[in-house]
Parts: sequence; C-alpha cells; structure tokens
Amino acid sequence: MSFDNLGLAPVLLNAIKKAGFTNPTKVQEQAIPMALEGHDLIVTAQTGSGKTAAFMLPALQKMATQAVPSKEKNPSVQMLVLTPTRELALQVAEAAKVYSAGMKDLRIATVVGGMPYGAQIKALSRRVDILVATPGRLIDHLQAKRVNLSKIHSLVLDEADRMLDMGFIDDIESIVAQTPKSRQTLMFSATFEGSVARLAEEMLDEPQRIMI
Ligand code: AMP
Repeated sequence: MSFDNLGLAPVLLNAIKKAGFTNPTKVQEQAIPMALEGHDLIVTAQTGSGKTAAFMLPALQKMATQAVPSKEKNPSVQMLVLTPTRELALQVAEAAKVYSAGMKDLRIATVVGGMPYGAQIKALSRRVDILVATPGRLIDHLQAKRVNLSKIHSLVLDEADRMLDMGFIDDIESIVAQTPKSRQTLMFSATFEGSVARLAEEMLDEPQRIMI
C-alpha cells in the first residue's frame, strides 16, 4: 500500500514525502480513508503506531480544501486535539507543523498546563486553526472566553484512556459541550473498555472501530 491510494491531496502527499515517509503504517492505512469519508472513529492503537498522522492528515485535508474562515473578530478554531499531557501536546503540535508544510497561513497553537499563561493568551488573541490542548488549561482559557470552539469541524481525543485515568472526564465533557454536534470526532486509545467505551458512546456518532 502506498500513500498515493489513500485519497490525500497533493499538498499533503508532498509533506509526507518531505517527512521521509514512504509507506503508511497500519493505522494510517485503515483510518485515513475512513476519516476522509467523514466517519467518526474509535481507534485502538499504541504510541509509535503513526496515529498522529492518521488523525492529522484527514483534518488538514479539510482545511486545505475549504476556504480559510473569514477575518471575523473572534473566529472559531477549526480542529481541537485534546491530549493527556503537555509532552504529548507539544509532539502533536510539532507533527501538525510537519504535515501541514506547504499549507499557507495555517495557525497552530498549544495550550497546556505547567507553562506560563502569557504566550498562550497572546497566541489565542489571533486566529487559531489547530488547537492542541490539555483539558485543564483549556478550561481556564474557555472560562476567560479566550477560545471559541463553536465551529470546529474536527475533534480528536488522543490517548483517551490516559485522559480518563488522570480524572479529566468533567473537563472533557464541558469542553466538548462547547463544540458543534456537526463535528467529526476521532478517539484514540490504547485500551477500549469500561469508561473509554462510555465516553465513546457519549461523544461519537455511529463510529467505525479500528483495532491495530
Ligand atoms: P506517532 O505514533 O504518531 O507518535 O508516530 C511515531 C513515529 O513514527 C513518529 O516519529 C512519526 O514521525 C513516525 N511515522 C509516522 N508515520 C510514519 C510513516 N508512515 N512512515 C515512517 N514513519 C512514520
């Protein structure tokens, strides 16, 4: 299987080539075509499986093929990725930069706990297309009305099992309540049982299930 057969736009295929990837990983091969079709997905995959590109590329494709939101005063974020830790959030934001190489004018911001507020507040005062966040800090910014999630088209819950283990359920619920029902939601988790299944039931719409 080659990346060329997954339905990705040329701008993304170029970025993949530049990153030095020749073939998609299993999770990419299965998740990318389904995500491009618009399905919600539950993916059971480990770190190191290539899951970041599996959720980032389809969302970037939407942004590459849709007009950039108008210059509204407080435009909504387009994609929100929630992660359990600061380290993972920074990695996801870094990967988003790599996979969006060649897409002009795309803004990526990271909002995580344990880091100063100043730079985050500054980043959020401008348009943000992709927001990568840990739940607790995002709640703080939402309460201060610094973030608008009313028009996101892509929501990713990365390492959902770890977010639940860390007690983020209430934060996740109040964040997701601020996003539109029309969004596409992808959930990634190393395990899929009990509370993860309940979260999926609550937040996903007729999801397809992929197990790697
Ligand atoms: P992830 O599971 O998303 O954290 O990715 C693990 C590592 O695999 C990262 O360093 C990626 O840059 C790399 N990677 C992702 N997809 C591919 C691919 N198709 N071919 C080679 N390396 C990849």
